Amino acid sequence: MDRRKFINLGGIGITSFTLSGFIPKNLVKKPIVISTWDAGIAANVGAWTILGAGGKAIDAVEKGVMVTEDEMNCCVGLNGNPDRDGHVTLDASIMDHEFNCGSVAFLERIKHPISVARRVMEKTPHVMLVGEGAQQFALEQGFKLESGELSKDAKNSYNNWLKKSEYKPVINIERKNAMSQLDANKMAPHRLSNGEWNHDTIGMIALDSFGNLSGSCTTSGAGFKMRGRVGDSPVIGAGLYVDNEVGAVVATGQGEDVIRVAGASAVVEQMRQGKTPTEACKIIVERINRIKKEKAKDIQICFIAVNKNGDFGSYSLHKGFNYAVHTKEGNKLYEAKSLD
Ligand code: ASP
Repeated sequence: MDRRKFINLGGIGITSFTLSGFIPKNLVKKPIVISTWDAGIAANVGAWTILGAGGKAIDAVEKGVMVTEDEMNCCVGLNGNPDRDGHVTLDASIMDHEFNCGSVAFLERIKHPISVARRVMEKTPHVMLVGEGAQQFALEQGFKLESGELSKDAKNSYNNWLKKSEYKPVINIERKNAMSQLDANKMAPHRLSNGEWNHDTIGMIALDSFGNLSGSCTTSGAGFKMRGRVGDSPVIGAGLYVDNEVGAVVATGQGEDVIRVAGASAVVEQMRQGKTPTEACKIIVERINRIKKEKAKDIQICFIAVNKNGDFGSYSLHKGFNYAVHTKEGNKLYEAKSLD
């Protein structure tokens, strides 16, 4: 902890120091990057090219999730599942250590929504642009308009869905035997044998060597959603929140139920009260479980969190959620704790 911070805390003294969990700077575990699902392994590698070289968290979290947006056989970005009218619509958000944030929602035909979100943050007086306006802004910023054609896999999955045309969010379908440590090259997001994606969002948090936190989140949203539906991922405070004095949080899962409790921000507030990242995530997962009652069995919700000290944690409603953590020691996949 630097001297200025100590003096700032002066009036409230040692109690505040302990409760807020500040520790001396040399004990902070940094840099670190963590991201959702097994796709996070490859994304972390992208982020680490910046973090490992002493770069900034905000650059790392953009570059990291771009890896997943670029992935051809991936559920995030333009290769994701379309809405029920057959169009892929993308949501993304980014936030830095100074409360600067930007997001895009219902964005079509742009390959890197996360970079458009960053431009919203840096080049406009706004936080959020949606739909046509977001696309117009992206084009003005030099982003290319892609064809809008569904990928072969997405087309197959859409055709399958059309047979019943039933919108029913499904709980995450995960590989049965999660591994504790994976080779980054073997781990790419993938469709399962039944044609479903194993997930459709990547969220990432980084703490850089300067001790600054940033986060990002990008998604094609819930597959076969209603046209115009926007999830939690681009909603600052729901899908993503960063408070550099405390910690950062990203959510994945049923977006509507994350928005309802201002999920990411609620988890940050728990950490502010002195909870560890895992405890903080658990409290908000339990809150959602209480609100949803018996309907909680039909949805999945997961939070990942990193605090200012570089401690990380996660919690999910149901089993099957994993997340990737890259530190100087390597890049590992962890199984999240869950209520069941
Ligand atoms: N949270 C995303 C949404 O609701 C979906 C996901 O995380 O899988 O759009």
